[in-house]
Amino acid sequence: MFTIQTIRKDFPALAQKVYGKPLIYFDNAATTQKPTPVTAVVNEMHNLTNGNIHRAFHYLGNICTERYEEARETVRAFLNAPSTEEIVFTAGTTAAINTVAFSFGERFVRTNDEIVLTEAEHHSNIVPWQLLCERKGAVLKVLPINDDGSLPVEKLHQFLSKKTKLLCITQASNVLGVINPVKDIVATAHAHGVPVLVDGAQGAAHGGIDVQDTNCDFYVFSGHKLYAPTGTGVLYGKQKLLNEMPPYQSGGEMIASVTFEQTTYAGLPLKFEAGTPNFTGVCGLKKAIDYVQELGWTLVKKQEEKLVRHAMQRLQEIDGLHIYGTTMPKTSLVSFNIDGIHPTDAAQLLDKMGIAARSGHLCADPLMHRFKIQGMLRFSFSFYNTTEEIDAAVAALKKIKQMLH
Ligand code: PLP
Repeated sequence: MFTIQTIRKDFPALAQKVYGKPLIYFDNAATTQKPTPVTAVVNEMHNLTNGNIHRAFHYLGNICTERYEEARETVRAFLNAPSTEEIVFTAGTTAAINTVAFSFGERFVRTNDEIVLTEAEHHSNIVPWQLLCERKGAVLKVLPINDDGSLPVEKLHQFLSKKTKLLCITQASNVLGVINPVKDIVATAHAHGVPVLVDGAQGAAHGGIDVQDTNCDFYVFSGHKLYAPTGTGVLYGKQKLLNEMPPYQSGGEMIASVTFEQTTYAGLPLKFEAGTPNFTGVCGLKKAIDYVQELGWTLVKKQEEKLVRHAMQRLQEIDGLHIYGTTMPKTSLVSFNIDGIHPTDAAQLLDKMGIAARSGHLCADPLMHRFKIQGMLRFSFSFYNTTEEIDAAVAALKKIKQMLH
């Protein structure tokens, strides 16, 4: 029913030229382009249907409240969460992790307790836990990864003990692309009585997760990596935990009653949604999820798998090119280096050829130290990319190699 060429028509950004060259957009792990049905919803709400939610009893306020709560139901169904009370809207993955780090930390973490992470985490799933450990006198423990980028799940139990309060793992690494066996990891952690937060920033756009099947305790993701507006994101948390956790930010909407002597809080999920939320963005997020579901996750996954396999194969034609994260399954990204070429020099030259790639530490400094390098080049694909674009990028890299050597 859909072809890549017809799908691309929904993404006007892909049809533009940069420096006079057709844009090849390979930075989808950083943020994805937005389809017109999503921008249409946001524009329509900004132009016409704009009323603050959950407080006004006028026409526009009521419509926006209804749409916002419909979006919550769409996200609930996307994650197969038992209840919409467990779906908190945030500004993104980082905001969601900080919410848990503060709120869960206040309630459950004490001196000498431990938080366990893996070596493959994004800075957003490291620094909030470091700050928590500093505040509480707790200890951060890090599970190293294997050379191929996989996690040694069989060693995880050595890192878990009665002192462990939370395990925080990425669903898929934004550097290596490697998809972690979340269900097994959660089962191992639960066997030690340890709850698990899954960073879904690199998982949501590739199908998300079934939170009941995996049984994770928290799942977080960003809308802008899932074809939705920036400034949107989701924190899923098990009701029992969210109920026990204190509010993170405070202000309007998260209260039940306020006097100068005492404030009581709203129930879930509003307890964690202080102030006016990004309700237009959230309605865009709903449209983005509907859009991808209409294409079908089967099509999305098939196309993205084809792209990553093609890229891995074609890139290996280049002498001196090293790929990081060689194990499967992988999301649709490839990070690599070419001997003697600084990744940022290559990225700048690619840019002038119309190819948007990412370079540098990729917000994962510890992984750069792990591989004893300063940075990498990364191509990350979406279902709207093509094998022809990959061929053009490989040809561009070959040219750059000649130029720089
Ligand atoms: N976690 C991972 C694995 C990511 O890839 C990213 C962003 O690239 C983040 C967290 C942070 O996401 P955001 O900047 O949207 O909050």
